[in-house]
Amino acid sequence: MPPNEPCPHCGQLVLDWHNEWYNGGERAAIYKGQAAMDCPLCRQPVLWFESRDIAAPLANAQPSACQRLATLAAQWVTIREPTCVNLAGYIAHHAAGRQYAGYWPASEVQQADQQVTQP
Ligand SMILES: [Zn+2]
Repeated sequence: MPPNEPCPHCGQLVLDWHNEWYNGGERAAIYKGQAAMDCPLCRQPVLWFESRDIAAPLANAQPSACQRLATLAAQWVTIREPTCVNLAGYIAHHAAGRQYAGYWPASEVQQADQQVTQP
């Protein structure tokens, strides 16, 4: 969520913006238009309004772009995409996941997957 929306900066279709991978406070600010998501492909700030439109911030208002958390993403994969096994698998094998291939360093993905699988 929100799925299949093109990025207003690079124009590429982002299959899943994965706003659920932000922490709770950032997600709330994003819903209110007070913070921006970052495009997984070009890393430019992108606003997502409650009207469900994806938009670029106005030039004179540059809300800080939040970063998705690898640990939240790793948890999400085990619940929502269990066939991918873990975040590394989601990034490698899932069409929407592949768009996040360059988003985190590989070591961070590995660490997040370890945290999720260890009690
Ligand atoms: Zn973009």
